[in-house]
Amino acid sequence: MESRMLILDGSRVAAEIKERLEGRVEKLATHGIVPCLATILVGDDPASATYVRMKGNACKRLGIRSVRVDLPSGTTTEELIAVIQALNEDPDVHGILLQHPVSRHIDERAAFDAISIDKDVDGVTTQGFAQNAFGFAAFPSCTPAAIMAILDYYKLPVAGKHAVVIGRSPILGKPVSAMLLNQDATVTTCHSKTVGLEHHVRSADIVVAAVGRSKFVQGDWIKPGAVILDAGYNPGNVGDVDYEACLPYASAMTPVPAGVGPVTIAMLLKHTVDAAERRR
Ligand code: NAP
Repeated sequence: MESRMLILDGSRVAAEIKERLEGRVEKLATHGIVPCLATILVGDDPASATYVRMKGNACKRLGIRSVRVDLPSGTTTEELIAVIQALNEDPDVHGILLQHPVSRHIDERAAFDAISIDKDVDGVTTQGFAQNAFGFAAFPSCTPAAIMAILDYYKLPVAGKHAVVIGRSPILGKPVSAMLLNQDATVTTCHSKTVGLEHHVRSADIVVAAVGRSKFVQGDWIKPGAVILDAGYNPGNVGDVDYEACLPYASAMTPVPAGVGPVTIAMLLKHTVDAAERRR
């Protein structure tokens, strides 16, 4: 059992990413360009509204323009796609984020895929997903990119390690599995039909929790010395990992809040600035 545990401070990682963006935003301004992120929110889910507000505020603090499009919950797939196409064609908009999840009657995949690949700063299109799997995505999904940025910031080795990802969603579990694989980890991706989940986690050097269930990962599943990245964000600011129970076993772990969350927002800002520079 490890005696000292490294807390992977997402706020610190995010602050450094944002600091590096400041000069780039200023340079774009000298060319008359203000990076702009358009955020689409369908319906009135309070959690989604909070996320969108947080992203808008983060843009403002960095001098990135944010355009917010609020649509009623009864919006059809066709109406949503028409809004996305208008933003695709707007030269002053560099990134488009469609807040997930949208109302159930909407074909979310069709809506995501309507986003131009040049403006897919959240890495949600099928094309962006494929590029990520091949390892050359311009804009990988923000939360997976955040997880990799934290590993990189703390110089935690990935190559040759056994990484167990719990969750296989198209925006999180699958792309982070691909990114870990592309950095030469041996990856096991678990999901709700996985048999012997605890057995897999017990052999992991790196555990990524992306389940969407509060305190799902238990302390006695953790191999002593494992690195834990908790992407979960459940009601009451609770992660997918039982933090206290895992503390005695992990060598390094992200807290919730102030772990993966702030770095995810920083990656979104970075991708928006990248997109504005690419357009120039
Ligand atoms: P999701 O689409 O609901 O996917 C959850 C995944 O967990 C699915 O693949 C599901 O398996 C799997 N799962 C559910 N119950 C399981 C069980 N008992 N055993 C093993 N696997 C199980 O969720 P998501 O969008 O990927 O988000 C996951 C978590 O990350 C949530 O807490 C969310 O709030 C958080 N999140 C955080 C950020 C951030 O910025 N920090 C961003 C996005 C999401 P099946 O595929 O078999 O159903």
